[in-house]
Amino acid sequence: MKYLNNITEAIGNTPLVKLNNVTKGITATVLAKVEYFNPGNSVKDRMAVKMIEDAEKAGLLKPGGTIIEGTSGNTGMGLALAAISKGYKCIFTLADKQSKEKMDILRAVGAEVVVCPTNVSPDHPDSYYSVAKRLNEEIPNSFYPNQYDNMSNTAAHYEGTGPEIWEQTDGEITCFAAGVGTGGTISGISKYLKEQNPAIKVVGIDTYGSVFKKYKETGEFDESEIYSYATEGIGEDILPKNVNFDMIDTFVKVTDKDGALMTRRLAKEEGMFVGWSCGSAVYGALEYAKEHLTENDIMVVLLPDHGTRYLGKIYNDDWMRQQGYID
Ligand code: PMP
Repeated sequence: MKYLNNITEAIGNTPLVKLNNVTKGITATVLAKVEYFNPGNSVKDRMAVKMIEDAEKAGLLKPGGTIIEGTSGNTGMGLALAAISKGYKCIFTLADKQSKEKMDILRAVGAEVVVCPTNVSPDHPDSYYSVAKRLNEEIPNSFYPNQYDNMSNTAAHYEGTGPEIWEQTDGEITCFAAGVGTGGTISGISKYLKEQNPAIKVVGIDTYGSVFKKYKETGEFDESEIYSYATEGIGEDILPKNVNFDMIDTFVKVTDKDGALMTRRLAKEEGMFVGWSCGSAVYGALEYAKEHLTENDIMVVLLPDHGTRYLGKIYNDDWMRQQGYID
């Protein structure tokens, strides 16, 4: 019999699929690492399980414990799957800009969801970071993974996603692109790939309203770069420990609108029903490819999550019109 012992064993080994239509005019081969094939439908399953396993080993999480995390939804889903398999409870804090689908999905897998205001600074007591920290202090036998600064996040991609991409491309990859939120995905994959071949170029996709690109270019944490934006999952108003700037050669900023429109094109033209930051990643990757890559290049771009979480936004024409993204 061939079966898995629980759903978390289905995490990883996602397919690498060539983009054939949105790449018109690009000479490089562009391959998408489609992470919605993970059981929680996102790349974050990988690091969620790793954070839990490492916490158990370190004695930070004990039987009957509660996992408390600030999450844009996808990490919560991964943590919830791991918690079900291992018998833990979950409480998640989310910013109110996150889609309702994400909140409903987390509740569906048994988590308690606390919704916090988006437009407050990270150190404000009501921010989703602060509320998660406070609940962790108040609730006995609770564990706060803190995906931003927990290095198990990067390690999951160094040990899993990076080697997968290297093997799937027979070591011929020349360029890797991914959106940057906590930074774990890009930093872990990049470290593995650059150890195999230091010539591989790594492109971080950032949003307008986020500090990463300016910080990489100037070393300055410029607060004037920070303003609210709509894209979910990438860009930050903090510098998480998991963003290893030495592992990211350059950043490309993508607007909410360009990311949203490319997301819809991926669904229609490639049959990939993906989330918003996937459109941002592909849009930014293709901008880079246009300028810097040739027909000899093999570029891999990572698509973090599934489109179901954005049915009320990107895939809703009325919402798209209200935003001014389509006529
Ligand atoms: N896209 C989405 C939809 C996400 O949820 C995340 C995680 N914040 C990312 C991209 C970025 O991944 P990472 O946190 O590993 O940088």
